[in-house]
Amino acid sequence: MKIYIYVILLVLFQLVITGCTSIGNDKQSIDSIAEDHGRYDESKAERASEKSVQKSNRAIDHTKTTWGYGDEIGPENWGDLSPDFHLCKKGSRQSPVDITETQQVKLGKIQFKYNSRPYNIVNSGHTVQVNMLNGSSIKLDGKLYWLKQFHFHTPSEHLIDGKPADMAVHFVHKARDGKIAVVAVLMDGCFENKTIRQLWKKIPRKPGSKKKISKKSAKWINVKSLIPSNRAYYQYMGSLTTPPCTEEVTWIVMRNSTPVSRDQLKVFSDLFGNNARPVQNKNYRVIRTSK
Ligand SMILES: [Zn+2]
Repeated sequence: MKIYIYVILLVLFQLVITGCTSIGNDKQSIDSIAEDHGRYDESKAERASEKSVQKSNRAIDHTKTTWGYGDEIGPENWGDLSPDFHLCKKGSRQSPVDITETQQVKLGKIQFKYNSRPYNIVNSGHTVQVNMLNGSSIKLDGKLYWLKQFHFHTPSEHLIDGKPADMAVHFVHKARDGKIAVVAVLMDGCFENKTIRQLWKKIPRKPGSKKKISKKSAKWINVKSLIPSNRAYYQYMGSLTTPPCTEEVTWIVMRNSTPVSRDQLKVFSDLFGNNARPVQNKNYRVIRTSK
């Protein structure tokens, strides 16, 4: 009997310490089996994806001009580093933001169809980026956005009521008309995440290098499991959070978090340190959330 009381107290203590309250749902999704990737002509899809990701990354990453998170090349100075980055300084709808007051409305469900597999993992020097084969998408208000890549930030860039999460993953999608939608999932340091375990094993140590992910090892990387099973979200219009800080980006910030362990957080922050842009002025923008 005593041992049961001890175990219950231990679990309660861990919840208080970590603040991890969304364990049940998300653990289940993390444990779920890898998806079936067998329906594509993979090599053809891979070549097409690589070309399309390279093209999108030229618009999304802009890694050619040196920027970072330290003093001189840090977020406060991004706007002065290149004329291409002027929105980082002059933009009026920038991201991330602190999600405080929200407008409760009826928001449509986001349909996640993450069926394709990751094909490589890149150490960009700023983060770990996982590039996806073509075929994964979200549907938002009837519009289709294709998943190009996902990457990580420590701590989270978006704050909720002034507080960051330990980490965030950003899923970057692009529609046929070039419009970008990013889904942010906040991650709390409490329990080991199996998908992260598989990804971290593959991080190339050298900045600027990439590693291919084989079809076989991709089976163990369940990208969809990083999305919390409760799909409630915040939505607002913002920008890319890295240069060139392009605006007209639709942001979806999931209200529920996904777990990651303290050790897994440490592996990332030892490599990249703090890679979160500070919150930006909201300039009267409305953040909507579902009722
Ligand atoms: Zn990001």
